Amino acid sequence: MFRPNGNYSLLQGSYLFSEIERRASSYISANPDKKIIRMGIGDVTEPLVGAVIEAMHKAVDEMGVKATFRGYGPEQGYKFLRDAITKHDYAVRGIEIAADEVFVSDGAKCDVGAIQELFGKETSVAVTDPVYPVYVDTNVMAGRGGEFLKEKGGFSNIIYLPCTQENGFVPELPKQRADVLYLCYPNNPTGTTLTREQLQVFVDWAKETGALILYDSAYEAYISDPEVPHSIFEIEGAKECAIEFRSMSKTAGFTGTRCAYTVVPKALKYKDDLGNEASLHSMWNRRHCTRFNGVSYITQRGAEATYTEEGRRQILSVVRYYMENAAIIQKSLIDAGYTVYGGVNAPYIWLKTPTDSWAFFDELLTTKQIIGTPGAGFGNAGEGYFRMTAFASREDTVSAMARICQRP
Ligand code: PLP
Repeated sequence: MFRPNGNYSLLQGSYLFSEIERRASSYISANPDKKIIRMGIGDVTEPLVGAVIEAMHKAVDEMGVKATFRGYGPEQGYKFLRDAITKHDYAVRGIEIAADEVFVSDGAKCDVGAIQELFGKETSVAVTDPVYPVYVDTNVMAGRGGEFLKEKGGFSNIIYLPCTQENGFVPELPKQRADVLYLCYPNNPTGTTLTREQLQVFVDWAKETGALILYDSAYEAYISDPEVPHSIFEIEGAKECAIEFRSMSKTAGFTGTRCAYTVVPKALKYKDDLGNEASLHSMWNRRHCTRFNGVSYITQRGAEATYTEEGRRQILSVVRYYMENAAIIQKSLIDAGYTVYGGVNAPYIWLKTPTDSWAFFDELLTTKQIIGTPGAGFGNAGEGYFRMTAFASREDTVSAMARICQRP
C-alpha cells in the first residue's frame, strides 16, 4: 500500500507567506476601498535591464534557425555562462574557481533544498535563528528535523543559533555537534552581514570539526562595505568546507526568469557512512545530471549579459535604486522612533517591534494598510522584530513611509 511521506505532517502551519496572504486577503475583502502597500515579500519589482532583454531576443532568434537551434544543453550550464561567472564573480576578487566547479540551475531555493541529497542519514543540521524558512522546512521534509517542540518553538533535531540585537546578529558557534551549518549573508531576514574576520571563525570551526557550511549569498550584489565579503571563498580554507549558492534573482531581477548557480569546490572531500572518501563535487555533478536538464539557452544568454560592461552598469543602477529605497525606509523608521537594523548592505530592514511581531503585522495592516513580514515567521528569535523590504517601487516606498511617520 502506498504511504505518503509522514514528515510533511511535521511541518508547522502554512508557509509564512501564505499566512500573510490569508490575513491580507481577509482584510482587503472587508475593506475594498483601502489602498494596501506591500513592503513584505522579497520579490523584485523593476523590469529586466535592456542588455538582458537584448541578449534574450537574440537567443530566441537563434532558436528559430536550424543552424543555431539548441536542444538539451549541458546540465551544468553552458561554458559561456560558467566562464563569465568565474571571471566576474570570483577572479576579480582574487578567488580561483574553476568553471566546472560552477553548476548553473533554475534557482538557489531549489539548490539549497536539493543539496541535502548529498547528506548522510545521521547528519545534524544547524541554522541561524531567524532563518530563511526553506532551510528548516526542507530538512524536516527529509526527516532530519525530529519533532516540533512547542516549548522550544522549533524542531528537536535542528540546532538553532539565535541572532538578535543582544549578540549584534552574529551567531555563536554551535555548542553541540553540527555536521552542516547554513549561513546566509547578507542575511535574509535581518539584513545584517558578517565581516571577513567573523566569517573566518566559522570556516576555522568547520575545518576543525569536519562540518560543511552551506553559504547562501543570494544578496551579495547589495554589499557596499569593503569589509563585508561577497563570497565565503574570500575566506582562507573555505574551499575545503563550504558550498556557495548564488542567484541572479535579486542581483538582476531574475525572480521570474529563473537562473542561479551553486559552487561546489573539488577540494570538498568527506568520508561517507562506509568510511570511503567522497567528493561532494562528483556527487553534486551526478545528482545534477540525473535530476536536472539544464536552464534554458535563452535564459543563460540573458544571465551572461548581466556580466557585460553594459549589463553590469545597468543591473548596478537597479541595485542602487533599491538601496535608495532602503535608505528612505531606514531614515523614516528611525524618525518615527523605531530601532532598525540591516538595510545598508542588504535590501532588508529589520525593525524592533513594540508589540509581538504578528500583532505588529495586524496593526500595520489595519491602521496604515501596509504589509510587512512578522519576524516570528522566521523563527523564535525573530519574535519582537519585523521585516520590510526595499523592493517596492519608489512611489510605494515613499507613501508607506509617509503613512508610518504620520501621527494618528
Ligand atoms: N536564498 C535566499 C536567502 C532568499 O531570500 C531567496 C529568495 O527570497 C532565495 C534563496 C531564492 O532564490 P531563487 O530565486 O534563486 O530561487
